[in-house]
Amino acid sequence: MRKWSRSMGEQKYRKFIKRSQQEPNVDELFKRVLDGDRMFLSKAITFIESNAPRHEKAAGELMQRLLPHTGNSIRIGITGVPGAGKSTFIETFGLMLCNLGHRVAVLAVDPSSTVRGGSILGDKTRMEQLSKHPNAFIRPSPSGGTLGGVHRKTRETILACEAAGYDVILVETVGVGQSEGVVRGMVDFFMMLAITGAGDELQGMKKGIMELVDAIIINKADGSNVELAKKTAREFKQILHFVQSPTDGWTPRALPCSSLKGTGIKEVWEMIQQFATETKLSGVFESRRKKQAKDWLHALIHERLQKLFFEHAEIKKLMPKMEHQVMNEELTVKGACDQLFSVFNRN
Ligand code: GDP
Repeated sequence: MRKWSRSMGEQKYRKFIKRSQQEPNVDELFKRVLDGDRMFLSKAITFIESNAPRHEKAAGELMQRLLPHTGNSIRIGITGVPGAGKSTFIETFGLMLCNLGHRVAVLAVDPSSTVRGGSILGDKTRMEQLSKHPNAFIRPSPSGGTLGGVHRKTRETILACEAAGYDVILVETVGVGQSEGVVRGMVDFFMMLAITGAGDELQGMKKGIMELVDAIIINKADGSNVELAKKTAREFKQILHFVQSPTDGWTPRALPCSSLKGTGIKEVWEMIQQFATETKLSGVFESRRKKQAKDWLHALIHERLQKLFFEHAEIKKLMPKMEHQVMNEELTVKGACDQLFSVFNRN
């Protein structure tokens, strides 16, 4: 009996200790993140990703303090269908950059994780070498919640990584749903990894992706595939010529590379550096970042308003009736909307 009660006490004590260790200490987090401490950066991101109110509050304070130390990076978005070679590319490209002395953070936006609760970077075997490099930081996609929520968390994570001294931020996404538009809205340079022989539709061309990209990289240009990859790159280059570029003053490029052999990878980096130099000189780099911050503010307001509306007690009560009347054509949609808003505005 005595043993049982003592062990219960110990359990409680351990829980207490664990909990207090998890409590955010904003001062310490701020200092350690600025020092580039990876463990504390991870901790900070855990608070950023948490939906617990006390974590959200601490993350908010932390982000405000980190803000003056952010922005000093190139943010690169990478998309491509599963199997195009994104993780292999990031491994090779990231390692090259780390060995050049850059500090590389790899993040992900995975729309499927919001449904399944899984993540594209959850698999530890991906980017095995890069994940061991002292200059690299790899963070799986935040799972759960809405795409909007994942969006906010990833944006704040980018800023936290920058404050921790990461100067190349790679944001990976799969070519699914709205994720490409979301990632385009948070990066400076956006590229698609393509492969030869896959149908246009499969590569996302029909979804308007061509209007989002600054470059198309034809991966797997090795072995017997080298010539075909070069030809595909030329074809993409021609198509890109007729598509409105997402970046003023920049004509999107198409380059072949082999992530497996490491060929053409240096050229991708040279192209991105050229892009950064040119757009910084023209002011496009800075104005895009400003616009992205403004758009982010608007997106956040939209999300909050939506939540406020749909979780409003009176609205929740009235909604089923309005839906019923609209479905049975007893009331116009606009009429139902007006009634709902009059209730919302009254309270
Ligand atoms: P992801 O789903 O886009 O992340 O693709 P992965 O990086 O997992 O690669 C899918 C497959 O393509 C794996 O079997 C890789 O080994 C292979 N792969 C990736 N890059 C290359 C490349 O440059 N050349 C060749 N031949 N295979 C590659």
